[in-house]
Amino acid sequence: MASRANHRVLLSCGLLCAAALLCSQGAVGGVSDGQPSKPMGASRFPVASDARLAGDGKQTRFILDLDQTISFRAFPLADPYRVVVDLPQLSFQLPADVGSAGRGLIKAFRYGLVMPGGSRIVFDLTGPARIANAYVLEAANGQPPRLVLELEEVDRTTFVQSLSADGRPELRPAIADARDATVALPAKVEEAAPPKPAAAPDLRPVVVIDPGHGGPDNGTQSGSENEKSLVLGFGLALRDRIEKSGKYRVVMTRTDDTFIPLSDRVRIARNQSAALFVSIHADALPRHEGDAQGATIYTLSDRASDVEAERLAEAENKADAIGGVNLTEEPTDVADILIDLAQRETRTFSNRFARLLMGDMKTTTRMHKHPLKSAGFRVLKAPDVPSVLIELGYVSNKDDLEHLVSENWRSRTVGSVAHAIDTFFAKRLATAGAGN
Ligand SMILES: [Zn+2]
Repeated sequence: MASRANHRVLLSCGLLCAAALLCSQGAVGGVSDGQPSKPMGASRFPVASDARLAGDGKQTRFILDLDQTISFRAFPLADPYRVVVDLPQLSFQLPADVGSAGRGLIKAFRYGLVMPGGSRIVFDLTGPARIANAYVLEAANGQPPRLVLELEEVDRTTFVQSLSADGRPELRPAIADARDATVALPAKVEEAAPPKPAAAPDLRPVVVIDPGHGGPDNGTQSGSENEKSLVLGFGLALRDRIEKSGKYRVVMTRTDDTFIPLSDRVRIARNQSAALFVSIHADALPRHEGDAQGATIYTLSDRASDVEAERLAEAENKADAIGGVNLTEEPTDVADILIDLAQRETRTFSNRFARLLMGDMKTTTRMHKHPLKSAGFRVLKAPDVPSVLIELGYVSNKDDLEHLVSENWRSRTVGSVAHAIDTFFAKRLATAGAGN
């Protein structure tokens, strides 16, 4: 493995154009298996220490300083125009706001973890561009090892031709499947041991807690505070609180700073036959749109309840584009007619839970002036799992942000959400009992 890690990866433009196979895959880069080339362990991850852009609107170059050579692959994505670079897991030690300002063909870029062992950099482009060159240089002349990506302006037709759907390697790991496998994996059985009697099935209702965003997708931001870490902290605290009662089996869609595509979040809820799905977010208003404050609870509907709900759903639904998912390959959700039939009951339960939640949360938390809303959130679309999305507050509002970072506020609010969950299931059980 060490020799592979040290292997110099250098593809010239000429080689690239000659490499019909690579071109047809739309992928450029080193070893394309996406495997980390080093054993895992926090201190062993290659370090990215700086990143910069050079060039203009015709040709733009991205340079990433590293402490060792690595393998990677780079590929373009359409609608919106993006380039994704998949890497082994890196320890990113870059300046705080690197990537927020673009140059030339690159509007902005961001980076983060997309699976254990795998990091990603996602570039938003100003227009169609092709990857003219992508390589890793060994340390030389006092310069550290570097990853270099060179983009060249092309027209849309050329860009679209460079996206060959069939030959492209798998763009994202089956994160949900991997997690399910972990959950379902039986304890290690000694070969000589007699078969153990099957453990009693866990009949407790499954609650899925879904902290929004993660990895390259920071969510909303205010100064050094990111939505992705605020909602992860809240989600983990909520898990701990409701697990304590022993009444539920709690499944998290993420427990660390990893990007999870929206469809995988829904899939986790469905695969686990969840009885409740709670997505946790924190909103922000763009500066010119004034100020808003307080928590809001959202449910799914085809038509947004107001303009703000529509804006928010649109923003939250952009998570996949931000994280570098190929939207054109995303399967459309389950057939509409099935959704319609199953969702009538599911929606009744979703709305019931949303009302309970509002009743409990308003005792501990400042709520938005219209605290119950609905819109077309993709993450709420499991047809058979009652689902709500909580916007805990606005990171753009000074008082809300003070709450969001406060341990005390979080503990009280987690308590009210946990209480609403208890009431929801107590009522469901009572209803089921009455029907017998
Ligand atoms: Zn969000």
